[in-house]
Parts: sequence; structure tokens; C-alpha cells
Amino acid sequence: MATLADAQALEFATMAHPSPVPADEREALIASPGFGTVFTDHMVSIDWDEGIGWHNATLGPREPIALDPASSVLHYAQEIFEGLKAYRLDDGSMALFRPDENAKRFNASARRLAMPELREADFIEAVRLAVMADKDWFPKVEGGSLYIRPFMFANEHFLGVRPAKKYKFLVILSPAGNYFKSGAPAVSIWVSDYTRAAPGGTGAAKCGGNYAASLVPTKEAFERGHDQVLFLDAAEHKWIEELGGMNLFFVFDDGTLLTPPLTGTILPGITRDSLMTLAREEGLTVREEKYSLDQWREDAASGKLVETFACGTAAVVTPVGKVAGHDGEFTIGSGGPGQLTTSLKQKLVDIQRGKMADSHDWVVRLD
Ligand SMILES: *Cc1c(COP(=O)(O)O)cnc(C)c1O
Repeated sequence: MATLADAQALEFATMAHPSPVPADEREALIASPGFGTVFTDHMVSIDWDEGIGWHNATLGPREPIALDPASSVLHYAQEIFEGLKAYRLDDGSMALFRPDENAKRFNASARRLAMPELREADFIEAVRLAVMADKDWFPKVEGGSLYIRPFMFANEHFLGVRPAKKYKFLVILSPAGNYFKSGAPAVSIWVSDYTRAAPGGTGAAKCGGNYAASLVPTKEAFERGHDQVLFLDAAEHKWIEELGGMNLFFVFDDGTLLTPPLTGTILPGITRDSLMTLAREEGLTVREEKYSLDQWREDAASGKLVETFACGTAAVVTPVGKVAGHDGEFTIGSGGPGQLTTSLKQKLVDIQRGKMADSHDWVVRLD
């Protein structure tokens, strides 16, 4: 039986765009793009059918897709996604950051959701083609990027409950504004009574279903005046897991860092992994250990805990200033961004922008 490794590389056909957005309109759209509301001209699309495998790989115009009302994703949510960015390096060229890790995680998510895997090289080529086709959409604002959203969903017309026999993989792009304006404010987080992921569930997979379940708690956090929601573990409702879409790090007064371990209920963030590597390189001790909400509160009060930050591709590193839950509120450090939070973020951003030596070969140039 053929394996993924010796599958032939996909060949992508190119369909010319009949009417791309005119340059002046595009310039206006990318002048202040925000996040996730502006989309580019093109998309990459690949189909998978049982017995055929991946086929129909196309770079073409971004356009609506027709779905049959019985399309399985609409009923049982068999869907996964990734999120990465194309960055502009200091020398003007464009680059991706560790796209092989996104490709690997995409396949890990695919396995958990009983979906077909895509060769890592095909995943990266699909991303590259999309970015190069729409490089004029790269926002010119300082610190801007092109956010890349690869995703896959089941689109067999079938209401029985079993893995689908047809899937579609797409890559779309969204110009993203500047997350790096100096003095990024510390966020306030709400400790939810809901849980995000249970042992044996899909917490480690990047699937839409996890997000669907997090929307009520997220809304609750917003309504209470907080910026983000924090989830505790499902079994004991005691151990800190992660925010709705970001991993967490804790910094102690002896200079050590702690982040919750990847036991299957936490999303294995690529930013998390990169920051652990950078911190260890600086000689810091990084522990992947369980940490309870009660201990966090106690350590924040005693001064043993000096900083807390969240991390993920979209916002890179975000300091946590305040924590609130049904048991009351507490403040982290001074309530503002801490020293290590700021320096680790700067180091990662400098590597992503080609301002600092990339000793791990994390940066992949596109042109
Ligand atoms: C994507 C995601 C993260 C962050 O992962 P990165 O690879 O660092 O962007 C963290 N938590 C959840 C739930 C996520 O979906």
C-alpha cells in the first residue's frame, strides 16, 4: 500500500482571476486591516475522494463554494484548520515561520477527526502558492502580516454517522494589522466554569468544534468586561489549561518558567514550543508541569509569581494583568507587561522579521 511519504507531489493548476480587486480599492482595504475581516483575491483548493486521494489542486479566484444541504460538515462538524502568518523580513522578502510544524499539526488534527492527511510538502506548497499570488495584499503598516488560514472539511452528501468519503482542503488569506504597537496592554481574563476539553476528547486537535464549544464561555467573559476566557481541566476543575485560543506561561521570581504539559487536552502551540526553546537557550529553566488556580492565586499574592503571559500566532505574546472568577479577583505583578514577557516576545518577533539570527532554521523564505 502506498504511504503518504512516497505519494507523488501534487501538481497545482492555476486559474487566472477574471476580476481581481482594483489596486486603489485594495490599498484602501489594507491601510488598516484589523484582523480577519479583509480577504485577498485568491485561494488554493484541493479535493479528496475515497479511492482517488488528493486531486484537483488549484490556485484560483477566492469565491463562494456551493455546498449540498446534506454536506456532512454542516451536520457533524468534521472540520480542522491551521493558522500561520507570512511575514515581511527586514530585507523586503516574505517568509513563513515554521510552516512544517503547521503541516504536522494539521495532520495530527486530521488523524483525530478521522480525516485524510495531506503530505507536508503539499500543505506548504499550497500555502506558498496562495501567498505569492496575493503578495500585493501584504499590509504596508509596520508589523503587518498576511494571516494564512488552511482548513479542511467533510463534504460528502450523507447523513449517516461515520467518517466522510469526500473532503475539501482550502487556503485563504487575510491581511492582518499591527499587533506590535509598543505598550501592548495586559489583558484581563475570566476563569470559566465551562470546560474546553475533556481527557480523551479533541482538545489537542485544531478543530472548529472546540471553538464552537468555547463561544458561550467567551461571550460570558466579554459580558463581564474581560478580554479572554481561561479554561480549567474537565476532571477536577482545578488545573490551568489554556485560554480560548492561546497557551499560557507563568514566570516566577527565581527566573523559572512554567507552562501546563501537553496531556491531550491542550492545543500544542507552535508559539509555545518556540518560546520554550528560546527561554532554555537563555539558560532559563522551563518546566512543563500542572499548575492549579489556587496555587496561582497564592503565588501572585506572595510575590513568588511575577508574570503571566498568553501566546499564539495571532497576537504572539500577550501579558495577563488580571484574573477573575467566581472566587474573586487577583492581579499579576504590577498588572502590566512584565520584563521577561517583553524580552521573550521581542526575541521571537525579531527572529520572525529577520532582525535576529535564525539559528534553528525556523524562517522559510518565499522569494
Ligand atoms: C491555535 C491555538 C493555539 C496557539 O497555537 P500557535 O501554533 O502558537 O498559534 C493555542 N490554543 C488554541 C486552542 C489554539 O487553537
